[in-house]
Amino acid sequence: MNMGDRRRKGLMLVLSSPSGAGKSSLARELVASDPELVLSVSMTTRNPRQGEVNGREYFFVSDHRFANEVAAGSILEHAVVFGHRYGTPRGPVEDALNAGRGVVFDVDWQGCAQLRASPLGRHVVAVFILPPSIGELEQRLISRGQDSAENVSGRMDRAMEEIGHFREYDYVLINEDFRQCADAIRGIVAVEKNRSARRPDIAAFVEDLSAEFESRRGDEGP
Ligand code: 5GP
Repeated sequence: MNMGDRRRKGLMLVLSSPSGAGKSSLARELVASDPELVLSVSMTTRNPRQGEVNGREYFFVSDHRFANEVAAGSILEHAVVFGHRYGTPRGPVEDALNAGRGVVFDVDWQGCAQLRASPLGRHVVAVFILPPSIGELEQRLISRGQDSAENVSGRMDRAMEEIGHFREYDYVLINEDFRQCADAIRGIVAVEKNRSARRPDIAAFVEDLSAEFESRRGDEGP
C-alpha cells in the first residue's frame, strides 16, 4: 500500500432529489460545515440563472467545449437533463480523494448510477432527498422565480421520474426541515467515515495497541 492509499478516505457523497427539493442548499451547507468535504462543481451547457456565477454553481460551457471534454476523457459521468448536458469534471474529484478529502456531488439519478458503475464506484454513498409534498415542491419552484410556468410544469413531470429512482440510493431523507435534514446528512457522513474500509490509517493505530499490549505483558513478568 502506498502513502496515497494510506490517506485515502474516499467518501463520494452523492445527493440527488427532484429539482426544488433543496438539495443544492443542503450540499453547500454540508461543505461549509465540514472542512474535509469539497463540492464537485459540474459542467453544463445550460445558461446561467440570475445570481449564478461561473465556476461556483457550474462551469457554464458551450456544446462544443462539453463534447471536447467528454472526448478527452476528462468527464467522470455525464447526462442530459432538461435538454442540456451536465457532467462531472474528473480532475478535481481525483485530487480531492487523493488528498484524503470527501467529495459531495449534486447530480441526478443518471449521474449516481454512472458514478457507482465507475472505477471509483466503491467509494459512493448515495442519499436521495424527497420533498415533504408535491405541493411544497411546486411552491418552491415557483417562489424560486427561476423558471417560467412551462418550465415549472416540465420540472414537475421530471420530479416524479427522479423520485421513481429512490430505491437506487443507500439512504432516503424527507426534507421537511432544512436544519434537521442537514444534520441527518452530517450523521450519515460521520458514520460512513468510520467504515473500516475507509480507515487505512487505523492499521498504524492498531500496531501501537499491539506494541502497548506486548510491553505491558513484558512488564508483568513470567
Ligand atoms: P439545474 O439545472 O436545476 O441546476 O440542475 C438540473 C439537474 O441536473 C439536477 O437534478 C442536478 O442534480 C443535475 N445535475 C447537475 N449537475 C450534474 C452532473 O454533473 N451530472 C448529472 N448527471 N446531473 C447533474
